[in-house]
Amino acid sequence: MPKDRPELPPVEELLATAVTALGGVERPGQVKMAQAVRDAVESEEHLAVQAGTGTGKSLAYLVPAIRHAAESGDAVVVSTATIALQRQLVDRDLPRLADALEGLLPHRPEFAILKGRRNYLCRHKMAAGMPEDEDDQLFDPREVSATGRMVQRIQEWANETETGDRDEIVPGVSDQAWRQFSVTARECLGAQRCPSGADCFAELARERAGEADVVVTNHALLAIDAMEDFAVLPEHDVVVVDEAHELVDRVTSVVTGELSESTVGLAVRRVGRLVEQGIADRLQEAGEDLRALLTVAPPGRVDTLPQSLGMTLALIRDAAFACITALGPRNKDKDDPENAGLRKAAFTALDDVHDTAQRMLDAFGPAAGDDTDDADDAANGAHAGDAGSEEVHRAEVVWLEEGRGRVPPTLRVAPLSVGGMLRDKLFGDRTVVLTSATLALGGTFDGLARQWGLRAGEWTGLDVGSPFDHPRRGILYVATHLPQPGRDGLPEAYVDEIAELIEAAGGRTLGLFSSMRAAKAATEALRERLDVPLLCQGDDSTSQLVKQFAGDPATCLFGTLSLWQGVDVPGSSLTLVIIDRIPFPRPDDPLASARQRHVAATGGNGFMAVAATHAALLLAQGAGRLLRSMDDRGVVAVLDPRLATARYSGFLLNSLPPFWRTTDPAKVRDALRRLTSGS
Ligand code: SF4
Repeated sequence: MPKDRPELPPVEELLATAVTALGGVERPGQVKMAQAVRDAVESEEHLAVQAGTGTGKSLAYLVPAIRHAAESGDAVVVSTATIALQRQLVDRDLPRLADALEGLLPHRPEFAILKGRRNYLCRHKMAAGMPEDEDDQLFDPREVSATGRMVQRIQEWANETETGDRDEIVPGVSDQAWRQFSVTARECLGAQRCPSGADCFAELARERAGEADVVVTNHALLAIDAMEDFAVLPEHDVVVVDEAHELVDRVTSVVTGELSESTVGLAVRRVGRLVEQGIADRLQEAGEDLRALLTVAPPGRVDTLPQSLGMTLALIRDAAFACITALGPRNKDKDDPENAGLRKAAFTALDDVHDTAQRMLDAFGPAAGDDTDDADDAANGAHAGDAGSEEVHRAEVVWLEEGRGRVPPTLRVAPLSVGGMLRDKLFGDRTVVLTSATLALGGTFDGLARQWGLRAGEWTGLDVGSPFDHPRRGILYVATHLPQPGRDGLPEAYVDEIAELIEAAGGRTLGLFSSMRAAKAATEALRERLDVPLLCQGDDSTSQLVKQFAGDPATCLFGTLSLWQGVDVPGSSLTLVIIDRIPFPRPDDPLASARQRHVAATGGNGFMAVAATHAALLLAQGAGRLLRSMDDRGVVAVLDPRLATARYSGFLLNSLPPFWRTTDPAKVRDALRRLTSGS
């Protein structure tokens, strides 16, 4: 340790003080995790820690993080996937921890939350210094008036807010309304040039973060900070990634590009008054061509670039470039902030359109779209059965999403893997601690480590287990007597099985379905048969439904993906978790299928590396809804018999908590009756 570093109490002492002050009980897994985080920070080696629900993992990383910040003077960044966890850290854990540790450290630990610029009110845009992005297609009068009411609420809130943080607005507002008061980092004029720079909410949040010991952020901003040339987060040498099982998906979202008539239309509206009409018209026409093509094209992955699409993408790219050139030098209006705002917004939208069109063309090989003969040859080659070598070389995947309502069909592009990017940019020059209740899939961290781009020897993995006594408090029931789930909705036998289980449990059931269609079908069929209240996702806001479910033990809640990960209901209201089928990605999921084929083409087992890993993660998350406190008991019932019979079932079962297992329906119904008769 350098001479000028303060002597601080050991992590174990700080943790014990914090746990006592917060009225908790010190748990062996928590101490083990805190020590491992300390060791990782000291040895500068990346660490993946699986810590089951009830471990107290946020204290286990916050205490060594705060100690490191106090000792080194550098901030530690804590990144989360969800707003719920961000709030828990900033509103509950960190203030109490700062109070508890204040007397043991040289100064009271400071903390701050930092989000992407678009999450803060932009005072300059508010003062009408930049264009409003009204969507021409917003013609439904009900939506117009709903957006109008939200706009009014934002304006009222803007006069009172001290942080400008969108998440303060309750109830929340739509992206559509919020966009009229916010800018992206690339649209921002920069505090030096902006007339509102001195009072800018985003700049103030950055200043606060610059003085903090712990900066809480989200995975998206962490990815942007790591990948962009400019720093978004304050200088730091340690990052804790909580909810790390979400990291790859969040980073993939950040780097996914999209192109549709809407994105092109936005660029046209922004550039419209700044360049000659004819130049903007060319871009508008290319956008209309795109819509015409995408409307008749089949949704899904675009394996080979059709000639017409290649030509349209090239037209869009060139028309956007012509607009960019017509706008002139980028710093032309530096002494005219109002015009600079308009131009900056136009440049940002045009750059997006231009770069995304080029990126999509590049995804099909060099010069795709520029030379249609070559493009056709490439397409023919791919059709001729050389898909394997195509998969090896192709780095990005392009797919088409169907239009829905007023959202036009949209073409998207995303990398096959973000591992290389994470390896170079995130893991390259800082120590990263990744943690979650679910990281060891099939009993090993290797699957996720590969997706993060980490190689053997560059990281260590630690499973600190769970304080829950899974074999005594939970049963895993696999309904091997049922047929395999089919493609045509929920089999009748599944509905009967669900009814019998819910009757035995007296309600108290969380139904996790692999599709909204199945959740709705089960709800409809069972509302007629059962006399317990049945809620279905979509009936109301998810938080409201979860509240109702938690408040009445007889009530059941059925739903899909967000319930798999987002429900935290301790107590007897949740005694039975039903999972209808193993949650593999849909066979037509373009990114998952491309990733699977890529792994296979490079000699790996694509199914296990992608589909089974995805299913294991979700299954473990779903099963993790059951035991939320030391007193909880109950059953996880998986109706899909493949969990016990398929060749990959061992991998999936090894990803789940060690519940007592049975395939006997009578035994499980008896257990449910016994469990709920006394409560
Ligand atoms: S500095 Fe950027 S974000 Fe802040 S008020 Fe100005 S334009 Fe808006």
